[in-house]
Amino acid sequence: MAPVLYIVIPCYNEQEVLPITAPLFLEKLRSLSAAGKISGESRVLFVNDGSRDRTWEIIRDLARQDEHYTGISQSRNRGHQNAVLAGLMEAKDRCDITISIDCDGQDDINAMDAMVDEYLNGCDVVYGVRSDRKTDSFFKRATAQGFYKFLAAMGAEVVYNHADYRLISARVLKELANFKEVNLFLRGLVPLVGFKSTSVSYSRAERLAGESHYPLSKMIALAVDGITSLSVRPLRLIMGFGLLVALVSFIGVIWALVDALLGRTVAGWASMTCIVCFVSGVQLICLGIIGEYIGKIYMETKQRPRYIISARTWEQEGAGESETVNK
Ligand code: UDP
Ligand code: MG
Repeated sequence: MAPVLYIVIPCYNEQEVLPITAPLFLEKLRSLSAAGKISGESRVLFVNDGSRDRTWEIIRDLARQDEHYTGISQSRNRGHQNAVLAGLMEAKDRCDITISIDCDGQDDINAMDAMVDEYLNGCDVVYGVRSDRKTDSFFKRATAQGFYKFLAAMGAEVVYNHADYRLISARVLKELANFKEVNLFLRGLVPLVGFKSTSVSYSRAERLAGESHYPLSKMIALAVDGITSLSVRPLRLIMGFGLLVALVSFIGVIWALVDALLGRTVAGWASMTCIVCFVSGVQLICLGIIGEYIGKIYMETKQRPRYIISARTWEQEGAGESETVNK
């Protein structure tokens, strides 16, 4: 029997682009279904991530127009990763496979055919990998490239040039549900779950409308989250660096003692100041890195829910409606 596919699409303030891309997703669902690769029960699942514009209303309208459109709404904005997770967890009990994709049309929708083919060939996870970044601005390209390199250097294993466009089977999602961490970095988590995986490459287009919600500050935050939630290498680096500084200091101490014994102790104010400044700077950086990990432990111990769904298009309308309308 053909598998049921859910296309999971996070949407945050996307009123400009949603009316353009939603029909494209539906068309893809139809063509896959017509080719007999997926079941007619397949759906497009939008996840409204607490948008402040008309996004949720658009999603509800779409759901009224065609039963293949469905949507859930988060009670507030929680960020891209949590929105994707909410959609995947919602979908996992209703389908055999999910494909998560951004709603702005940047990721080539046609790569889905190859993804489904790979699933039918026995892969449980299929990563969408960008073959080039020609359409990104030079700055975005450079920072994104730096992002992956830095992650790898810090011991966080991620698939190069893969964002969150990927196919995941329901059985992998059921295992993923056991990863309870609040600091979510799906790109790092999915490879940890294991199972047979492969990748499909596509070229990345420009956003069809609207603006990016991933400025440099959010990319840096994502990189820090990714590293500190996947790897303890920075802590080890601190240890190594600490040892190095201690060694240098030890040599310095001997040098100072020898100088003092030889009676050449002309007070070196400059060298003293430099050492004090340097060592205290290093200590503060190290404390900061350790603090980042303690902060993560703190958030994990709270075990707060990672997403809260306030409305679903297939449930009685009302509860979530008033909330978005009132804003
Ligand atoms: N997004 C989200 N919550 C957020 C920020 C973004 O659900 O807080 C969604 C957004 O609607 C889009 C996807 O995440 O579908 C990727 O965002 P965007 O296209 O702005 O990032 P970029 O492609 O520029 O990295
Ligand atoms: Mg985008």
